[in-house]
Amino acid sequence: MLKISFIAHDRKKDEMINFVTAYEHVFKDHQLYSTGTTGQRIMEATGLKIHRYMSGPLGGDQQIGAMVAQNDMDLIIFLRDPLMAQPHEPDITALLRLCDVQGIPLATNIATAEILVKALDRGDFAWRELVHKYKPGIQDGEIK
Ligand code: PGA
Repeated sequence: MLKISFIAHDRKKDEMINFVTAYEHVFKDHQLYSTGTTGQRIMEATGLKIHRYMSGPLGGDQQIGAMVAQNDMDLIIFLRDPLMAQPHEPDITALLRLCDVQGIPLATNIATAEILVKALDRGDFAWRELVHKYKPGIQDGEIK
């Protein structure tokens, strides 16, 4: 079971709902996280259970980023709006940076998201289970 996060900016939320609904059969086997409104919309549209953090502008990206910093997030689907300035742009940049620091698979548009979810369904993310097994960091709630 892997940890997967969903974040969608407002004009991308419908696209996110359609995407997650289409692949609900894949996502249902994993531990799901999201920013506040994105998660609420997905849960209303599907039978999935999602741990919702704060809304993005209120710090949700940073909360997900904290998991990424600990190498404790396996896949992020982040449908960004490239045509609209966001008040929390620094938080967004920080999250993307941390994904690159840890080498966390990250999709920022629907085409990449499709490819990653198909890889997930095929079992191509098994290496992330190994990361969890052997990573230094938080294990059993203790920071090593
Ligand atoms: P939201 O946050 O899911 O609470 O809308 C995402 C964002 O807009 O950054």
